[in-house]
This record gives sequence, structure tokens and C-alpha cells, in this order.
Amino acid sequence: MYESINPANGSAIQRFDDDTPFQVNQKLAQAVHAQRDWRQVPVAGRARLLTAVAAQLRKEQRRYAALITLEMGKPIVEAEAEIEKCAWTCDFYAAQAEHYLADETVASTATHSAVVFDPLGLVLAVMPWNYPFWQFIRFAAPALAAGNAAVLKHASNVPQCALALEELFRAAGAPEGLCTTLLVPSYGVQGLIEDARIAAVTLTGSTEVGKLVAAQAGAQMKKQVLELGGSDPFIVLADADIEAAAQTAVHARFGNTGQSCISSKRFIVVDEVADRFVAAFSALASGLKVGDPMERDTQIGPMARASLRATLHSQVERTLEAGATLVLGGRKIDGPGYFYAPTILDHVTDQMAAGTEETFGPLAAVMRVADTEAAIRLANATEFGLGATLWTRDLELAAKLARRIEAGAVFINGQVASDARLPFGGVKQSGYGRELGVYGIREFVNIKTVWTG
Ligand code: NDP
Repeated sequence: MYESINPANGSAIQRFDDDTPFQVNQKLAQAVHAQRDWRQVPVAGRARLLTAVAAQLRKEQRRYAALITLEMGKPIVEAEAEIEKCAWTCDFYAAQAEHYLADETVASTATHSAVVFDPLGLVLAVMPWNYPFWQFIRFAAPALAAGNAAVLKHASNVPQCALALEELFRAAGAPEGLCTTLLVPSYGVQGLIEDARIAAVTLTGSTEVGKLVAAQAGAQMKKQVLELGGSDPFIVLADADIEAAAQTAVHARFGNTGQSCISSKRFIVVDEVADRFVAAFSALASGLKVGDPMERDTQIGPMARASLRATLHSQVERTLEAGATLVLGGRKIDGPGYFYAPTILDHVTDQMAAGTEETFGPLAAVMRVADTEAAIRLANATEFGLGATLWTRDLELAAKLARRIEAGAVFINGQVASDARLPFGGVKQSGYGRELGVYGIREFVNIKTVWTG
């Protein structure tokens, strides 16, 4: 059962019945039909649809943003920024798709040999609630440009966003079935993966679910892209600009109420500057405004679900019991919504919950280390490998250290963020495959060699 619950006050808004097997079958049949025609449309024509989607996103920005905030609690200003980022990314792929998908001539023994990029077909997207529009659009814009059709199974707490995404493409003029939302429970995903009409799968979510879906898709020999959890390090070396690092740390950890795969989660700080960093970081974090996410000056909204808050609080409690110290917060905020106080724990180690598990909420773990070598060792002492941040004034050293950090992205003196121009994804338990950039558009294509004697 899909249900919208307003996390700011816990009230049920609307319930949606799951699609029946008959409806799912009909929708998949329509999607197959749409994709057969769509793959024949020249890339320039597909790009025109993305331009129209971008325009529609901007036209309806306020309505879509309000839906996001209503269903998962993101502060409204951040929700509006999410919609604009989606629009920008559609524009980006509209401009780049022809170039990214152009045939490549390769010299060989043939008279002519080339690489061409054909679509795979219907791609199933299993998506999470934390960026309900962005997670889907960053997959869909390149995948549709490449000639695929998208079938969305969204998280069960954001059904209105899920339906709005389908409506968005329809309103922009997409052929019926090119972008389809299915309201199916999570246990229905396996059946979809096994359906011969689904060619490939992309999933953004927890590592636990990623492994299940990967096994199911693997058993069917279907291509997968997996964008999973993270425990990104935010490394502060002794020569860093501490004020700038602390300011960025607040955005990197508490943006989206801490519910992002690429939030910085472990603040690995060299002893020499640790007291200064913690003081500056906590001073800024203590000033964050927690409250009604519909208000424009709110910086921390509720967490998206009661269960997510309970998990976070358990991580805080277990970390404190193991010997960490409480600098800020550490408690649920009383009232009807799922609010949690911005929290900073100090003296966390890689034996404690906040130092090892993914913490998906407003919880920062400060981990103190003796020197640069110890910082890099600790940064890599995690099962995850999504993003990493490194603060130092020595850019030559930073470039060298970046190569030693086990992550899909290293940002030097800046916040890890996704950007349509640059590839995005992880290593280790954070998944595989890449989204965005030229690498993203080449995931759901048949990279075909055409050889002429
Ligand atoms: P999940 O990984 O459970 O959910 C992500 C998506 O997978 C949803 O669409 C969900 O559907 C679906 N799903 C859940 N179980 C299955 C299954 N057995 N087979 C197929 N699909 C499934 O994330 P949660 O929302 O439960 O959050 C739990 C934790 O996951 C968070 O605390 C965080 O650590 C991590 N997470 C990471 C994200 C990221 O961006 N990397 C995003 C979201 C969560 P349904 O909602 O119907 O269960």
C-alpha cells in the first residue's frame, strides 16, 4: 500500500491502491510499444522532449516542490532547488545527447569499423524517497535520450511524487508509456525483473536492497546500475582553512536533513586542528533553524519516516554508550512530527556505530586522528566508497591523496555533489555503474561494433 504521510506532523494524507497484475501487464505492454517507436526517433527529436520536460519542471516548480516537502519533509527551498536541478539536467542532456551518442569510427583491419550506441529497451528504476524527483530524473534524462523507456517503481512513501513524474513527461509531450509509474510493493520488484519485457534495472537505495536486486537481475542476466549507501569521509588536514571547512561541513552533513547518500558522515580531523574545527562546526550547526519545512527559512525539516528517526537515535545511543562524547543535539524533538535535533558526536572511532554504519539523518561523527596518513587510513576503513571530501591548502598533496581514497568521487576543498557534467557513483558496498556525464548515458545502451569488410 502506497501512503503519503506528512512527516512534519505524522498525519496521513492519502492512500493509493497498488496496481493490479492486470494493470501492470497493460502498462508494460504500452511501454514496450512506446519504446519500439521511440528508438526510431533521431536523437535530436529525443532531445526536444527533454527540453520540454525542463520547461514543464520550471513551470510547475512550486507545485512539484510542495509535493516533495509534503511527502518527505525536505525544507521547501531545497525542494525548489531539486526541481531546478532536474530541469538543468534535462537541458544538459538535451544539448549533449547527440554528441555523447554519436557513432565512433575506430581504425581496424576493416574497410570501416565503428561503435554505435543502441538502446536496451525498458529500464526498471527502483528509486528512493530522499530526492524523489532528482533520483529519477538523473537516470531518466540520459536513458530516454539514448532511446530507452523508463518504468518507475518509487518508494512507498512518495506516491504523489511518483505519479507527478509520470504526469510531467505526459504534459511535456512524451508518447504514452515512455515514462510509466507502477504502484507496486517492494516484493513485486522481483517479478518485474523476471519479466522478459524489462531489459535492465537501476536502483538507488540501501546496500541491503541493492544486493537483493543485483542478485535477481544477475540471475536474469540483466544489466544493473546500483547507487547505494555511503559513509563519506570529510577529511580536515592540519593546514586546512578551518572556517571554510566548518561552513561547508554544515551544508555537507545537514542539507536534506542529513538524508543523502553523499552527505559527509565521518568528519576525520587531524588532532592539531580538531578543537578549532569542532568549535566552529558546532557553533554553526547550533544555529540551524529546525521547523516547519514549508517555511522558507527552515533549514532542518523532519526526517522522512518515524522508523528512520528511530534507527538514527539508536545509532546515537550506541555510539555514546561506546564512549563518544556529545557535542550537540542527540535527541528526538517532542511533538507530532519526526524531527531530530542536529547532532554532533566527538571522539568517535571506527569501532562505534556512527563510525561504521551509514547514518541517514542529521548526525555528524567527528573522528580525531594523529596525522595525514592516519586520516587516509581511517577514510578507507569503511565498507562504503561513494564520495569523499578533503580539506588542505596543499593542492599538490591533495591531488596525490585523492588517488589513494577509495571512493567514486573526491572533492578537494568543496562539498561532494552530483553534477550532470560529471560521473556519479561508488565503489565497494556503495554500488557500481555510473550516472550522469557521458558515462551515465552509456550505461543503458548496447555498445555495438559494426564492422565492414
Ligand atoms: P530502501 O533501500 O529499503 O528503499 C529504496 C527503494 O527500494 C524503494 O523504492 C523501496 O521500495 C525499494 N525496496 C525495498 N525493499 C525492496 C526489496 N526487497 N526488493 C526490491 N525493492 C525494494 O531504503 P529505505 O527507504 O528503507 O531506507 C533505509 C536506509 O537505506 C536508509 O536509512 C539509508 O541508510 C539507505 N538509503 C540510501 C539511499 C541513497 O540515496 N543511497 C536512499 C534511501 C535510503 P519501498 O519503499 O516500497 O520499500
